Amino acid sequence: LVKAVDVSKTFGDFKALDNVNLEVRKGEVCCIIGPSGSGKSTFLRCINLLERIDSGAIWANGELIGYRREGDKLYEMNDAQIARQRRGIGMVFQRFNLFPHKTALENVTEGPVHVLGETPKAAREHALALLASVGLAEKAGNYPAELSGGQQQRVAIARALGMRPSLILFDEPTSALDPELVSEVLDVMNDLAASGMTMIVVTHEMGFARNVSNNTAFMDGGKLIEHGPSARILSQPDNPRTADFIRAVR
Ligand code: ATP
Ligand code: MG
Repeated sequence: LVKAVDVSKTFGDFKALDNVNLEVRKGEVCCIIGPSGSGKSTFLRCINLLERIDSGAIWANGELIGYRREGDKLYEMNDAQIARQRRGIGMVFQRFNLFPHKTALENVTEGPVHVLGETPKAAREHALALLASVGLAEKAGNYPAELSGGQQQRVAIARALGMRPSLILFDEPTSALDPELVSEVLDVMNDLAASGMTMIVVTHEMGFARNVSNNTAFMDGGKLIEHGPSARILSQPDNPRTADFIRAVR
């Protein structure tokens, strides 16, 4: 479903991504781990077209991200084409980024009504079902400020799902949460994984990586150092840097 080939990205003369290759199949959960500044967020942002890559290519849903082909020539997509492509890719951030002046329900229906053109009634029904699926049926009418961090993050997941994405990217979705709220968000992500959603998850939650994800990738210094089945990467990595990192976070 997602394939990155030789992806590089520089900021000025700093190489944030250095020839990254990664493939994530449909229904697979892939965790990305690695030290701060290793390029994990930048990589997600490139998949989601929040950043443009300098070289290489990213495919998602069988489409080249950010470019369209005419004959044998490639052209940069315009804003409308980029917006259409981004719709199919959900993103959940460390800070929940909900609309503060909208209720939980309105946060979930906003995109489906205004971007996908669903009727308010259909969007509302779908949103209520999604809020129920993340355990927040009773909080539909509450504003973000009236919700705990864990609840806000679950609304953010419901909001991403409202857009009916084929893929969801998570960037440290539990890092901003109080420890006792982490598990309620991980439980929702666990359910989502079990439902067959394709997910790429940047996380420091080694338990989630080990128990839920199929594959884990380790990044360091803009390079994807190692990638493979989570059970192997997390217990017997080939690369000493991966081993050092895993020892340090455990
Ligand atoms: P963390 O675990 O702290 O979130 P990360 O692995 O997500 O780290 P990135 O946010 O991808 O790291 O950043 C990778 C590197 O790229 C960092 O050194 C960062 O300073 C640099 N960087 C990221 N975005 C920009 C930008 N817009 N302009 C300049 N440098 C940037
Ligand atoms: Mg980051």
